[in-house]
Amino acid sequence: MVLRHMVAVLLLYLLVLPARAGELLAAEPLGDGVFALIGETGARSYENHGLNANFGVIDTPEGAILIDSGASLEGARLLADRAQALTGKPVKWVINTGSQDHRWLGNAWFRSRGVEVIALARTVATQRTHGLAQLDGLRGVLKERLSGTEPAYASRVIEADAAKLVLGGRAVEIRYFADAHFPGDAVVWLPGKRIAFAGDHVYVDRLLGVLPQSDATSWLAAFRELEALGPAAIVPGHGRVTDLAGARRDTGDYLAFLTEGVERFAEDMAGVEEAVAALGDAPRFARLANYAELHRGNVSRAYLRVEMGR
Ligand SMILES: [Zn+2]
Repeated sequence: MVLRHMVAVLLLYLLVLPARAGELLAAEPLGDGVFALIGETGARSYENHGLNANFGVIDTPEGAILIDSGASLEGARLLADRAQALTGKPVKWVINTGSQDHRWLGNAWFRSRGVEVIALARTVATQRTHGLAQLDGLRGVLKERLSGTEPAYASRVIEADAAKLVLGGRAVEIRYFADAHFPGDAVVWLPGKRIAFAGDHVYVDRLLGVLPQSDATSWLAAFRELEALGPAAIVPGHGRVTDLAGARRDTGDYLAFLTEGVERFAEDMAGVEEAVAALGDAPRFARLANYAELHRGNVSRAYLRVEMGR
């Protein structure tokens, strides 16, 4: 009985793994020509081209809209191929939701082909600050697959914090709420379908990372504004497509746990060691991938950020 079970599991792996290996990003149709491209929740690797994140494709009669451009020229080409395969049309517009490498370092590939790359000025400002360091960070991972990749910025920079665009006849909004994973992170909102491409505002299945440039407190405020939109579906920056309840469970509740916790300790001037000792165990969130690697560092960076701001 046990043996038969083991054989069945082995067969399943043999059948499923090769099919998945060829498909770097799983396409999830959301109806009406809208697709999420779901990347691995693990780390950047040579094999995944640094595309360990989610992207979006929206079909229009005039061409495809791609949400986020990948981490390299090579990654950009892969995303363009996927968009073409899903819609039968080349990418005509790219929108950057953020400034972490895989959100925008593929811009140059699209710009050199005359694609309009759109981003908020706030997002571009952060890209300008971090671009060269991000390229350095990718070099050891992507090796020759990074060659030719250079920072390139949006051809259409939006100074406001919100924009209502019509691209190929489709209403597409870009919204900035507050600085989140990176300063200037934005959400792409499809008002008709109530779909939010949340970029790095939302992580599901895996724990979010509070980086030195992240602000957990304003990130939570941004998350509350995303909630207020009342999305029917959320394409997170990382993890499977979800709804509001799923986004709350894996991101909103975690940010609330972090910020409430560290504010309490900072108020008492407890010090970072004491905050990490007290908050470093969060069994509610231990089911999320990367919890062991990231949680204690998240507490410490969130604490230091709050202490700095006091
Ligand atoms: Zn990310």
